[in-house]
Amino acid sequence: MGTEQLGIRFGTPVSAGDPPRVCLPRPPHLATVCGISCGMSARHFFETLRAERVTMLVDTRQTTTYRDARFAHGDDFVYACGRHDVGYTHVAELAPTADLRATYHRVADGKSASRDERAVAWTAFLKGYAKLVATDRKILREGSPLRELLYGPHKSIAFLCACPHHEDCHRRVLLGMVARHVAGVGIANLSPEGVGGFAPSLKTPRRYLLEPIPSADIPASHMPGRKTP
Ligand SMILES: [Zn+2]
Repeated sequence: MGTEQLGIRFGTPVSAGDPPRVCLPRPPHLATVCGISCGMSARHFFETLRAERVTMLVDTRQTTTYRDARFAHGDDFVYACGRHDVGYTHVAELAPTADLRATYHRVADGKSASRDERAVAWTAFLKGYAKLVATDRKILREGSPLRELLYGPHKSIAFLCACPHHEDCHRRVLLGMVARHVAGVGIANLSPEGVGGFAPSLKTPRRYLLEPIPSADIPASHMPGRKTP
């Protein structure tokens, strides 16, 4: 993934291999970008953010008013963040499209779909999302909402989605892209274990990514018994 594709105007490719690694300069304040799920209790959620000193929550869900979103729902959620001294912003261009999600769920939710077909659909979803944010939307372009957040006043920000495990979620692509393309920023997947909650479990077959996503440094995780093409 080159500079033009990502919308990064400057930077230094540091590897001659594929694909070129391009770095934006180290942000003045930001040290860590985290991923977190709202699929836990409100207490565990806000205690986890506090323990990690996260001061800005970046909502990457396609819609913020799911019926099952419990505490992370619409204006009530924004109010709760304020009460816990956490900033909140919903960045629509970091969410997957309805089309990508529908295409995946058509296969994944079908009773007759094989494990293989589901893994293929998950791989297509995650790769489609990576292309959407990197090539189509150029989320790291100058002046983009993400760029403003990365170079803003916060030391630690967190991408939010509802998927419990980070490997089952598009947020891992966002974290991977930041780690790959922004100098000096660490990434972390937050889990409520540290504040008395349970670690989320992986869903099958989402855990099987049949092809790597180089723009986010995500390797393939091959399914046992499946012949690689
Ligand atoms: Zn998700």
